[in-house]
Amino acid sequence: MAAIGRFQKGDDIFYAKVVEGEVYPVRGDVFGSPSFEKKPIKLKGVKTLTPVAPSKIIAVGLNYADHARESGKPLPKEPLFWLKATTSLLPDGGKIEIPFPHHRTDYEAELAIVIGRRVRNVTAAAAARYIFGYTCAQDISDRTIQNGESQWTRAKSFDTFTPLGPCVETKIDPHDLNIQLFQNGQLRQNSNTRHLIFNCFQLVSFISTNMTLLPGDVILTGTPSGVGPIQSGDRLEVRIQGLTPLVNTVK
Ligand code: MG
Repeated sequence: MAAIGRFQKGDDIFYAKVVEGEVYPVRGDVFGSPSFEKKPIKLKGVKTLTPVAPSKIIAVGLNYADHARESGKPLPKEPLFWLKATTSLLPDGGKIEIPFPHHRTDYEAELAIVIGRRVRNVTAAAAARYIFGYTCAQDISDRTIQNGESQWTRAKSFDTFTPLGPCVETKIDPHDLNIQLFQNGQLRQNSNTRHLIFNCFQLVSFISTNMTLLPGDVILTGTPSGVGPIQSGDRLEVRIQGLTPLVNTVK
């Protein structure tokens, strides 16, 4: 496998392998041992969905030291995480909607982990075998609400606040990837996943001691420094080395 996406044509929703823009539907369980159609489908009328439909989205905060500093918050001793509503998901190409234009609402580029096998109480050393792959994400945040509350569900769970995709890369080492956010072509965030305080395997291990993770579940690994406000008309692009970029606009 390599880049896996999820698509819709008419009423039919399906996973597929994406190779140079061509879409080859999956046969069988995408999280099992799938095979692929030999011929790509015609792309007319095909819509890109988020690459998975998770049972839950877990977001990790303050997982890059430079972002914790710019937020004025101490580094967490253990991973700090919360849940985002699955209804906040937005596919590649979708429009982020700002609910309160007088609030400050920020972009946050993040590497997302996608779980491939049901897992509970796994060690960090064994975590990799439960991971399906990695994709681009944003953890859009209403800072005005976030800064007024002690937990962040409301600030981060508005519809369209979790852009995800377009594809899950199943063959990639997640721990030395450049991660960047471009706002209208301007570089705003620029870091590397080697600066994660808790790496992907440690996060899966830690979270799995708290809750069972299911195939398709998504873990957002945190954002580096450089967060900033978005405005209607913005074009936001998350670029992570080795992954297909995630592009969204704001309205
Ligand atoms: Mg975040």
